[in-house]
Amino acid sequence: MSLYRDRGVVLRTYKLGEADRIVVFLTSGHGKVRAVAKGVRRTKSRFGGRLEPLSHVELLLYEGRELDIVTQAEMIEPWRPLRDDLIRLSQGIAMAEATEQVAQEREPSDALYRMLVGALRTLAERSSPLVVAAFYWKLLSLDGAGPVLSSCASCGSSPPATPLVAFDLAEGGALCRGCRRGQPLSPAALEVMRWILGGQLARALEMPASATTGEVAHLATVSLERHLERHMRALNILELT
Ligand SMILES: [Zn+2]
Repeated sequence: MSLYRDRGVVLRTYKLGEADRIVVFLTSGHGKVRAVAKGVRRTKSRFGGRLEPLSHVELLLYEGRELDIVTQAEMIEPWRPLRDDLIRLSQGIAMAEATEQVAQEREPSDALYRMLVGALRTLAERSSPLVVAAFYWKLLSLDGAGPVLSSCASCGSSPPATPLVAFDLAEGGALCRGCRRGQPLSPAALEVMRWILGGQLARALEMPASATTGEVAHLATVSLERHLERHMRALNILELT
């Protein structure tokens, strides 16, 4: 067995036997890693509370055949303000869950790791209505399913001659009146989505809650769910054949 160091965020944990846990990490250098933390559920565990969901930790792991073994875990960022606020904590968990579904085991994706750490850091600093939605849009984009927002995703005609009035990720993104399908899309929501995916994320994160942020968040959730369903179906087919 070989020993390796990496940094990671705890995406999820589940019980194993009497005192152990399986911990799922998103690491910087090894993608998604599933590892056993022995004795972690004992009150005097040497890992303390460092392997709770969302913890950002420096790790020393033994590589195993199926599951790795955590031998050391040092806290980098505990995100304390996030843990003291139930809404922000659930937002963090939502991002970790989406990450777990998109990330591939042992396939390095430093971009995804940095995106998740950045989003958790933002969330720990302040509450913003669009943190989770912005993360979902960027996750879709990173997974090769970023929406077309500059012209109609179906016929290619572009504003201002043809306004974009609807959104369906299955069709590729924003749609004109003639091609409309899926969800209605307001001009304000379209603009915010362009900010998020076009390098003006900070501007989107400064927005107070409004009908527009609600619309952007709803579209992000619906789009991510559809994308993950297809992703899961594709995986199931692969496993059956
Ligand atoms: Zn069209």
